[in-house]
Amino acid sequence: MNLTLHLTDNCNMDCSYCIREKCPRDMSEEVLYKACDLAFSRGRRAGLCFFGGEPLLRKELIYKALDYCEAKSADTGILFDCKMTTNGSLLDEEFLLRAQKAKMVIGLSFDGKAQDVCRRFADKGRSPTSGIVREKAELLLRHMPDSIAMATIAPQAVPYYSGSVKYLHDIGFRRVSIVIAYGRKVHWTDGDLELLREELNNTSAYIKELFVQGDMFRVSPIDSKISECISGRNPAHKCHLGVRQMPVTPAGDLYPCTSFIGDKDYLLGNVYEGVNDKKVSEIAVRSSVPESCRECDLVNRCTNSCGCSNRMNTGDENRVSPLQCTYERMLIEVSDRLGEELYAIDPGAFKHKYI
Ligand code: SF4
Ligand code: SF4
Repeated sequence: MNLTLHLTDNCNMDCSYCIREKCPRDMSEEVLYKACDLAFSRGRRAGLCFFGGEPLLRKELIYKALDYCEAKSADTGILFDCKMTTNGSLLDEEFLLRAQKAKMVIGLSFDGKAQDVCRRFADKGRSPTSGIVREKAELLLRHMPDSIAMATIAPQAVPYYSGSVKYLHDIGFRRVSIVIAYGRKVHWTDGDLELLREELNNTSAYIKELFVQGDMFRVSPIDSKISECISGRNPAHKCHLGVRQMPVTPAGDLYPCTSFIGDKDYLLGNVYEGVNDKKVSEIAVRSSVPESCRECDLVNRCTNSCGCSNRMNTGDENRVSPLQCTYERMLIEVSDRLGEELYAIDPGAFKHKYI
């Protein structure tokens, strides 16, 4: 079973688009071990994702969870894997050596050239984070060269979009994942979206330039849209309301997805009493395609069925926001054009990259 452990609700950064309510509430060791037991209680694989707030504020809990789960895996034969999403500011050599031993996959939240636009420390002067995070990114890549950079682009950071992709590639990342910022703290205008289209085209031109040189650098969502088009697989359809990766709050409560935390209507149990399977099935059987999308030609390629982001944007898990719809159309248009161009340049290399 896959669980996302919210080790703390606290963070040492104060990003302007952050959707988390920050407070000094940490997970106890008791809840941590119960959550580990729960992950091992179903199926032949136990997966943990260390998350926050900023999970490295509670580094010692991560060490305890790794020791406990590795011993449990050796005893039971159940496979254990782990990952972490971090803002990177507290990474150090000792942690990375332990993470390497556990084969942890680390996603570094790093907005590249736009880092200081929105991602600031939570000190009085909201000081910039770009210097330290760049340093930590280089340290991370020395230990784990396959780590992913995860950037969030808010409207005010759109002019930096393609420049950030290049910057992250130049540092040494082989994979970059970019999402646009959603939620009540951000306000997109038509002008922002026009500029975003231009920046997606610039990014696509950069991916093409690297492809010609034999560099298979991947930028999600552009590259992933191409792969998904070929495979006919839409990951959003498998992830309606996220019940395949269940968050655990510091108090041990279980929810279908991070954006539902605190809403008692979506409480799925807790680490002491286990998962309320009846409630999980009620959520899982809900329609995965919003009514307004059913007749759309792009329905199988669009992430409209992400109930969590729909709820965050429109207040209704089955209603897509105009922003999401416009963005998806843009992405599909840009990635289809890129896919055709790359195939025409070198079909063999294209298959190698995307199939
Ligand atoms: S680092 Fe993450 S949790 Fe912390 S303020 Fe930024 S977005 Fe929020
Ligand atoms: S492009 Fe818009 S209408 Fe079409 S499936 Fe996506 S969100 Fe729905």
